[in-house]
Amino acid sequence: EMTHPAGTRVLILLDDPTGDDASRTLPLAAHLRQVDADDLHVSVLDLGVTRGDGIFETLDAVEGSPQSLEPHLARLANSARLLDLPAPSLDLYREAVHRAIALSPYPRISVKLVMTRGIEGAGACTGWVYAEEIPDFTAERENGIRVVTLDRGYRHDVAQTSPWLLQGAKTLSYAVNKSVYREAARRGADDVIFLSQDGYVLEGPTSSVILQFGQHFVTPSTDQGILAGTAQAAFFEFCEANGYTSEYRLVPADELAQADSIWLSSSVRQIVPVRELDGTARSFDAEVTAAALEHLLGRRS
Ligand code: PLP
Repeated sequence: EMTHPAGTRVLILLDDPTGDDASRTLPLAAHLRQVDADDLHVSVLDLGVTRGDGIFETLDAVEGSPQSLEPHLARLANSARLLDLPAPSLDLYREAVHRAIALSPYPRISVKLVMTRGIEGAGACTGWVYAEEIPDFTAERENGIRVVTLDRGYRHDVAQTSPWLLQGAKTLSYAVNKSVYREAARRGADDVIFLSQDGYVLEGPTSSVILQFGQHFVTPSTDQGILAGTAQAAFFEFCEANGYTSEYRLVPADELAQADSIWLSSSVRQIVPVRELDGTARSFDAEVTAAALEHLLGRRS
């Protein structure tokens, strides 16, 4: 945990986060309120607090510019649809993100966008945008991390068979996504790759999985109840720009052992290579790691 001097974390509350952008009469700024991040602002009756019933996005900002902002906003809207929440006002969230970045004193920050179902019975969603400094991930990116595979307990087609389980939505219910880190630690590892019950590679608890086979790069297809990663999409842009091929498909778990490199990708860490999988040492392509990282960090939106 990092400690923050007072006033360096930025919190902006969105008044009416589901307001209709087309019929808004007041300027966007009139719906945004910067408040002290150390004060209390959310009710203990908020369904985001009591049930984890809400959605979020986390994005990275580099030198004052948000990365892949539009894909993050689109995914927020998609999560809202999957949870039968009102559509978030993307104009308002976009404005709040730019505001939070402008107010934040750090060159490298993460920005979190949150929308909850609001106070039980009140019928209004709660929304905020929060920015803070991020740690330095240089060591993990250069040395790699130790990963274990864990059973996700769902088939790969869970999003089609059982959409009410909300797999593929980025909900605030991340207790499981956190518990698996404790399980990873018990097994002497740093992170996790989820496998479907029927043996396919899915994603990490906070990341996408990318595999390298020579000049060909593969990620699990995103209709398997997993998130479409914005960092992974940027990695595939890097592939295209450099003459490599890339593919979304089903990835049987045994292909992990055959891959030349495995990376976990996510907005704030960008990419980290896997140097040990289920206790077995692995090599990875340090050159591609460095070049892809440069591309990922170069995103401006
Ligand atoms: N999958 C899950 C479950 C995540 O929580 C995240 C990000 O936190 C990702 C994938 C990667 O998505 P992105 O690259 O957009 O950060």
